Amino acid sequence: MLVTNHVLSGALIGAAVRRPLPAFAMGVASHFVLDAVPHWGKWRNRQHFLKVAVADGLAGLAAIGTCAAIARPGHRLAIVAGMAGAALPDLDKPGELVLGRSPWPAAVNRFHGVIQDEAADRFGQEMIVMGVLAVAALLAARGMPPGRGRRRATIQDDAGRPGRPYR
Ligand SMILES: [Zn+2]
Repeated sequence: MLVTNHVLSGALIGAAVRRPLPAFAMGVASHFVLDAVPHWGKWRNRQHFLKVAVADGLAGLAAIGTCAAIARPGHRLAIVAGMAGAALPDLDKPGELVLGRSPWPAAVNRFHGVIQDEAADRFGQEMIVMGVLAVAALLAARGMPPGRGRRRATIQDDAGRPGRPYR
């Protein structure tokens, strides 16, 4: 699965969990779950892979920057941790490209390889998933304004009190 979709899933997890360490761990776990779900892949050749990987890497970085930038300050660390965990397993690609090897143990590389359910004709599906995840992640990262949902109770509590007239 594209790393951009992993990143967006990680942002959703971080926004839901709101604690950095569990968000990171669940982000890592989500990577392997999503890689086992049918997704776009099976590149024609190395050039095709690189073309997709570079565009995807840049889109993933943009997603990380956007979600981190719009996240409410109290949720930002958990959201960044979720995104980092979700993207982490795919460091094998730049590792192999730049250093000639994956940073992960052989057993992890084997597992990461065998769980893939890829097909070349799923580009449209991958883009739909990306669109849905992007909207959900952006909404979740922004979160609800503090106090939202308590407003009615606050108005009732404050009604009639000195200095806090009914609004
Ligand atoms: Zn992967």
